[in-house]
Amino acid sequence: MHTFAYERPATLPEVVALLGRHGTDARLLAGGTDLIIRLRDGTLHPGVVIDLKRVAELCPAIREEDGRLAIGATTVMTDIAADPRVRRDFMALAEAAAVVGSVQIRNRATLGGNICNASPAADTAPPLLVYGAEVVAAGPGGSRRIPIADFFVRSGQTTLEPGELVTAIELPLPRRRMGAVHVRRSRRRGHDLASVTLCCGVDEAGWTRLAYGSVGPRPVLAVDESGMLADPDAPEAARAEILERLFTDASPSPRSMRASPAYRLAMLRTLGARALRTAIQRLAEE
Ligand SMILES: Cc1cc2nc3c(=O)[nH]c(=O)nc-3n(C[C@H](O)[C@H](O)[C@H](O)COP(=O)(O)OP(=O)(O)OC[C@H]3O[C@@H](n4cnc5c(N)ncnc54)[C@H](O)[C@@H]3O)c2cc1C
Repeated sequence: MHTFAYERPATLPEVVALLGRHGTDARLLAGGTDLIIRLRDGTLHPGVVIDLKRVAELCPAIREEDGRLAIGATTVMTDIAADPRVRRDFMALAEAAAVVGSVQIRNRATLGGNICNASPAADTAPPLLVYGAEVVAAGPGGSRRIPIADFFVRSGQTTLEPGELVTAIELPLPRRRMGAVHVRRSRRRGHDLASVTLCCGVDEAGWTRLAYGSVGPRPVLAVDESGMLADPDAPEAARAEILERLFTDASPSPRSMRASPAYRLAMLRTLGARALRTAIQRLAEE
C-alpha cells in the first residue's frame, strides 16, 4: 500500500474544509470495506484519507422526523437490518442490508459508503430506488437533497459535486400501504457481490416499482402505473409484456467475470417474476 496522510476531523465543517483543501487527492473513509481494498490493490492512491468516524454531526443514527426516516450516512448494515422502524416501513431495505457480505462486513459497512462507492451491484440501491429515497449532501455551498434516482452515474461515480459528502439518506414514510421485497443472485452465499440485485414494491394503488442492479453501469428504476402488473387477475400475456418492458434498461457488460450477460438477463426475469409475486402477497398480508 502506498503511503498517505490520515486526517480525523471532529466536525462537518472541518471535513468540508479538508475536502476543499485537498480536492481529488482526498478520499473519505467510512467503514473502509470498499476503500481499504482499493488502497491495497493500488487502484486508488489518494494523498490524504479523511476518516469520518469521529465527526460529531455524522454519528450513526436512524431518526423519524417530518414524515421521513433519516438514516445517517455512517449507519452500518447490521443496525439498519435490525432497526424496528426500517423493518416496519422499509422491509426490503432491511433485507438488502442483511445480505451484504458477512457479519464482519455488515458491522463495518455503512449505507453512505454503499451508495457512494456506486457499484452497480450495491445491494441497498434497488430498495432505496423503490422507496424513493433522497440523499442529503453537504458541501461548501451548504446542504442539498438529491433524489436517489439522480444519484448514480456509473461504477464509482455519483452526482456528488467536488467537495461534497453524504450526511444522510432519507426515506419518505409511506402514504400508501406497500408490499416490497429485495432479492439477489450471487455465485455463492455471502462474501460475494451479486450477479443480479432486484427490489419490487407493489402499493395499494396498484403501482409497481421495480429496481434492479448489476445488469448495467448503474442501478435502474422502472415503474408501472397501469395497475395491470400488480393485478393477479389481469391477462397473463399482458402482465408478461409489461414486466418485459420494465427490463428494457438492462444492459449487462460482457466483460464481467461474475456472470455472462445471457445468464444475468435470464436471472433478472426469473427474480423479477418471483419478487412481483412476493410483493403482491406481502401487500395482501399487510
Ligand atoms: C468481502 C466483501 C463482501 C462484500 N459484499 C457486499 C455485498 O454483498 N453487497 C454490497 O452491496 N456490497 C458488498 N461489499 C462492498 C462494501 O462492503 C459496501 O459497499 C459497503 O457498504 C461500503 O461501505 P463502507 O462504509 O465500508 O465504505 P468505504 O469503504 O469507507 O467507502 C466507500 C467509498 O465511498 C466513499 N464514501 C464513504 N462514505 C462517504 C460519504 N458519507 N460521503 C461521500 N463519500 C463517501 C469513500 O470515499 C469510498 O470511495 C462487500 C465488500 C467486501 C470486502
